Amino acid sequence: MGLSKLWELQEMQLRLQGLQQQLQASGLARELKKEKERLEACQATVRAKMEEREALRRQATALEGTCRDLAARKKQLEAKLYSGETNNPKELNNIQHRIDTTAGELAREEEKAMELELQQEQLEAWLQENVARLQADKANYRENLAHYRSWREGLQQEMDVLAVNTSQLEGEIEPDLLVLFNNLQRRLGTRALAKVVKGTCSGCHLVIPAVLLREARGGKFIYCESCGRLLLP
Ligand SMILES: [Zn+2]
Repeated sequence: MGLSKLWELQEMQLRLQGLQQQLQASGLARELKKEKERLEACQATVRAKMEEREALRRQATALEGTCRDLAARKKQLEAKLYSGETNNPKELNNIQHRIDTTAGELAREEEKAMELELQQEQLEAWLQENVARLQADKANYRENLAHYRSWREGLQQEMDVLAVNTSQLEGEIEPDLLVLFNNLQRRLGTRALAKVVKGTCSGCHLVIPAVLLREARGGKFIYCESCGRLLLP
């Protein structure tokens, strides 16, 4: 009677250990943590690129203004040149010179504006691709995290129930027997109790001498002579 309860207890303990090992051996938590860090780094890069986009927009607006001003100045100078206001060759020359300088400056600024536009296009393409990928990866991560959590919760619940049942069962076992069993487990590990199956020890498969089996039938506790386990006849 006592021994079969012990067997039940040992089965529960083994099941509990198995679940604990499953939880510890799973690399899921580590993988999820790594993925989270990677996503955070991606997010930071995207944020920096978005800030860069804003800066480029401001630059482009400023450049547009500069070009507009230069074009207006050039037009004004040209109007002055052809207005007939002055015939003084030196002054006309001077105006022409200023027109040329302004035109050169305008061309340079327009080229800058074109380069800037190209930069903006490239950045926009990068953002389009990477933001979409980041969103998809994030959704995937959240799904995996939810799966992992529900798996872990299920395992934890099962372990909690097993822990309660184990201590309940321990309460039903004679204290002396429990102490004996615990001491044996400290020496031999959790599987300190073995069954006698077809005259052999289920722990090490060695044959149990008939004399021991007779003693067991007489109510005595017997131990495997090979592995030292307490035997349940
Ligand atoms: Zn044995």
